[in-house]
Amino acid sequence: MIHNTCKRCLYTIDHPLGLVIDEEGICSGCRVHEEKDLLDWSERWQQLEQLVKPYRISDKRQYDCIVPVTGGQDSYYIVHLVKERLGLNPLLVTYNKYWNTPLGIRNLANLRIRFNCDIVIQNVNPISVKKVVKETLRSFGSLYWHCIAGQTVFPVQTAVRYKIPLIIWGAHQGLEQVGMFSHEHEVEMTRRYRKEHDLMGYEADDLITHFNTLTETDVWQYRYPDDQALNDVGVRGIYLGNYVRWDPLAQHHKMIDMHDYKGANFARTFDRFDYVDCFNYMDLHDQIKQSKCGYGKVLDHACREIRHGRLNRDEAVTLVERYQVQTPKYGDLLFDWLGVNQRGFEFVTDLFAQNKPFDAKITSVGDELSLDWMTDGRDLTSLEMDRDREYITIGKGLYNC
Ligand SMILES: [Zn+2]
Repeated sequence: MIHNTCKRCLYTIDHPLGLVIDEEGICSGCRVHEEKDLLDWSERWQQLEQLVKPYRISDKRQYDCIVPVTGGQDSYYIVHLVKERLGLNPLLVTYNKYWNTPLGIRNLANLRIRFNCDIVIQNVNPISVKKVVKETLRSFGSLYWHCIAGQTVFPVQTAVRYKIPLIIWGAHQGLEQVGMFSHEHEVEMTRRYRKEHDLMGYEADDLITHFNTLTETDVWQYRYPDDQALNDVGVRGIYLGNYVRWDPLAQHHKMIDMHDYKGANFARTFDRFDYVDCFNYMDLHDQIKQSKCGYGKVLDHACREIRHGRLNRDEAVTLVERYQVQTPKYGDLLFDWLGVNQRGFEFVTDLFAQNKPFDAKITSVGDELSLDWMTDGRDLTSLEMDRDREYITIGKGLYNC
């Protein structure tokens, strides 16, 4: 029998990262997730300690490694592991995506103060960023290309520039979502994965080739260093998810309790902690993704929570149905920033809509489903943190830090 949808989670064989479903109807992502309860994680942690050993520098006036961060997602937990558990001295790097929430700016400031880390911030000039956003929208229906490109290339450029060979990332998305690799493959960062999966097949220079409205001066900041430069420094990027049992929700709870990380409610997903640094990722960008791929971030969150045993399949379907129909809250901010009107924007994004309906054929469990386990008694704030609804282009944090 051929299965199109996993019997355990809600992913289908149409997942853009590529997914296979075995004869028992279970997807590759769920199979690789099973490793989380089978592997000897203390042994794997020791492997990580051996791996980073040659990169430790006794001179504390230098950095041992680079850690890419934002004011959201897994940043706190990654820095916690690198600095407090491995005892390394990291240089944090972040790419300014311009669509920063006050909460994200606050979380990022609190992160570097709490962990006592230096940080490098890349600000690409806003004129080029807006041109890139307009072109990637028009050409392949992506609002987010510049963010992914910036976040994945700036740490690598910084590694080359500062001659810091080791970059430490969190979890590998291809492993976590679709089981593209086993944890034991210990897969590392590659130029090829970044281009094919993170960047939808388009590297910086491909934008010039395809779309003649962009010039080299608009995209050179997003260029991946060449092999010679990488080899000269010996740059490699490792993923902590191969050595630590990765569980984002449990990790966020821990970081709230230990280091005052903060989350907020979202219109289009039940997760409160993931991309709190950005007004668009789980909002307008998510609606575009849903119209292109047939599902939004809430389905990723639902699958993750099924696998970790905190939702059953019916509850997950109920949440996906509840959140996927919600309209974005912050689209007007993007239209103003980009200088376009909503109708023109929707005309462009509609060209890429596939109209794949979400159809899990499960009886939904109704409105009584509680989400208390999401925060487990912890307080939330809002993305705006009682300020005006506006992007914070550059901010030092709201608490004198
Ligand atoms: Zn599955």
